[in-house]
Amino acid sequence: MLMVKGINYILYLCFIISSCANNVSDRPSENPLFIEEHHQEEDIKPMVDTIEISDTAIIELKEEDGSFLLNMKYATEDNFLKEKVYDCAKCLLRKKAVDALIKASALAEQKGYRIMFFDCYRPLYIQEKMWEIVNDPRYVANPAKGSIHNRGGAVDLTLADMEGNALDMGTKFDHFGKEAHHDYLELSEEVLKNREELKNIMTAVGFIPLNSEWWHYSLEGARNYSLGNTPIVCDE
Ligand SMILES: [Zn+2]
Repeated sequence: MLMVKGINYILYLCFIISSCANNVSDRPSENPLFIEEHHQEEDIKPMVDTIEISDTAIIELKEEDGSFLLNMKYATEDNFLKEKVYDCAKCLLRKKAVDALIKASALAEQKGYRIMFFDCYRPLYIQEKMWEIVNDPRYVANPAKGSIHNRGGAVDLTLADMEGNALDMGTKFDHFGKEAHHDYLELSEEVLKNREELKNIMTAVGFIPLNSEWWHYSLEGARNYSLGNTPIVCDE
């Protein structure tokens, strides 16, 4: 179902991620336009359910795709920029990352947790804005290189209980200081356990932690994805 829902997004987002055109396969099973033409010519029923979307397509992760909670901080003023910089509170990511996060959600649920997102894909022009404020590569990636968020392969997230209350992770999201580091251990047992639970879930599905930010995880191999600079806009 997710793959079918994602079709709208691949068509739309082909315009926003520069590499996307290269990532959509010309193979009939992966190209809905091709299937439509094929149908007209030979009257073969389109196999819509079997359409596959490329792993590198950008799609929207929605709350109902798992037991997810979206708390997209940059679509509010509650962030270190003190400004609402996304029009809409959407979590856009490469499909491979979405697939892994759906597995992560199932793992989290088995342990009585839900995954709460703070940020997903982030346009490069927002990265530049962040870099102007926090000129420290431990916490904000230099836009000259680009963040894996700009590539649609990183997430900022935490765990919540099943009622949606975020667990205590010792600091707030975007706390730029040593207390947010994984190797900072002067924290309560509960906080250390909560961070460990998040790390275990995320690494089990192919994400890599970042020492300086307990909330940040990058999908393995996502450094190779191309940068995106299109704003996060609302549906019409
Ligand atoms: Zn991050």
